[in-house]
Amino acid sequence: MTASANDPVSRRRTFAIISHPDAGKTTLTEKLLLFGGAIQLAGAVKAKRNAQQTRSDWMSIERERGISVVTSVMTFEYGGCVFNLLDTPGHEDFSEDTYRTLSAVDAAVMVIDAAKGIEARTRKLFEVCRLRDIPIVTFINKLDREARDPFDLLNEIEKTLALDATPITWPIGSGRSFAGTYRFATKTVRRIDEDAELLQTSGLKDPLFDTLLPSGADAWREEAMLAEEGNKPFDLAAFREGHLTPVFFGSALRNFGVRDLIDAMAEYAPSPRAQEADKRLVEAKEPKMTGFVFKIQANMDPNHRDRIAFMRVCSGRLTRGMKAKLIRTGKNIPINAPQFFFARDRSIADEAYAGDVVGLPNHGQLRIGDTLTEGEEIVFRGVPSFAPEILRRILIGDAMKAKKLREALQQLAEEGVVQVFTPHDGSGAIVGVVGALQLDVLATRLDGEYGLQTRYEQPRFTVCRWIASDEPAKLKSFIDSNGSSIADDLDGAPVFMSSSAFQLNYDAERNPAITFSDVKDYQ
Ligand code: GDP
Repeated sequence: MTASANDPVSRRRTFAIISHPDAGKTTLTEKLLLFGGAIQLAGAVKAKRNAQQTRSDWMSIERERGISVVTSVMTFEYGGCVFNLLDTPGHEDFSEDTYRTLSAVDAAVMVIDAAKGIEARTRKLFEVCRLRDIPIVTFINKLDREARDPFDLLNEIEKTLALDATPITWPIGSGRSFAGTYRFATKTVRRIDEDAELLQTSGLKDPLFDTLLPSGADAWREEAMLAEEGNKPFDLAAFREGHLTPVFFGSALRNFGVRDLIDAMAEYAPSPRAQEADKRLVEAKEPKMTGFVFKIQANMDPNHRDRIAFMRVCSGRLTRGMKAKLIRTGKNIPINAPQFFFARDRSIADEAYAGDVVGLPNHGQLRIGDTLTEGEEIVFRGVPSFAPEILRRILIGDAMKAKKLREALQQLAEEGVVQVFTPHDGSGAIVGVVGALQLDVLATRLDGEYGLQTRYEQPRFTVCRWIASDEPAKLKSFIDSNGSSIADDLDGAPVFMSSSAFQLNYDAERNPAITFSDVKDYQ
């Protein structure tokens, strides 16, 4: 597929990188941005992050622990395409953020450490991608170090992820003898010591391989031939449907194989896909602007309550100064200062198209899951909320500040920092998180930004589920008879809280008319 300059939607590639911590996501991101001409020096991604972090107190948690809490968006141009790379937090305690971010991408790059193979978090993130059949390009990284056998790695992808894996390139040696990669389809070699230079060979028999691998060229030839003959041919349709992953080998640190990867993203990865809304499927090339908010980030400056809502444009053209209808409230809101996230700096955008992510500064009108349109009453599906794994009652010493705490919790819940549940029995609010670090962030922000000193207490509940029923009377009667175990979430949807998963299953079995769900789409 060639990207046409006249068609901004076909040129868009919106993707994320999924990997286990330490596999090389940050290094690869830097190198991708280099290809996009977005930054001058490798290392700038981390440096920039650090510069931003110093501006904000609450993020000192992140600094102390050396993890990335904030999801950012990086836009760069390469090969005629506009790439939107959505970064995801590395730490699993912020996985909710990651899941929501994955709801806004059309493709993913899966980075695997060649010595380690598929690790736990990669698998988990892959499963999230699979729920939406997101196509995945695989980059097997760190070939400059001792690596596992490539067949072994491919087998592992096929077995543990149930995903066909087709190597596009094949490593020539590994570790100290890593000499480059061979591309089956074109019979070309990319040498590690001659970045970007492609050498045409006559095929696997070419004498070049004797030079590249002075000992073991023949064994390598045999192996490469097996790989070429034994693997499924690359099938674009299967890739686009999420059933097959093209595999590249390289070294992000040595900036090797990254060009092949980004070329593949330009060539194979899909342009913005249609998005499912409650009433219909919205095609990316429709003329009217639509979009949904998948992330809210508080202003770095704690003295201002401004927020930036990250919206994925799903169709049409977003222009500065236009008005958009916020479906949840029915109000029109002006889009005065949409921000683009070019990796070098944040610039004011004049227009954005399907697949782009724009930052919309606001004072709290926008929430995660919100749909914006030019007037049509539709709501996008698929920005999920997960039942928390940790529940805590939040207590404040000064009773006079209870109202302020309620307001603060409401705001922070709208940002997606925590979930807040209001028990029907009138007892204090319960907060729910997926990872314990979120509790630290909440307490730090309540203190730093609202002047509220709080503490946590373990309630008698440990799990909760959203409850619903096709029979409203049965739902009402269940709620009435379990009053002290019921709470409302931010949107007023009822949840049932229980002391243990075992007890919850027992209750669920005894109430077949009620569905107990651990995932909720934002409305
Ligand atoms: P992340 O946690 O996935 O973002 O991983 P980083 O990009 O921070 O990389 C983790 C470590 O692996 C760092 O010390 C990198 O320098 C190193 N690293 C990344 N890519 C490569 C590579 O291709 N080869 C080698 N030898 N080290 C690498």
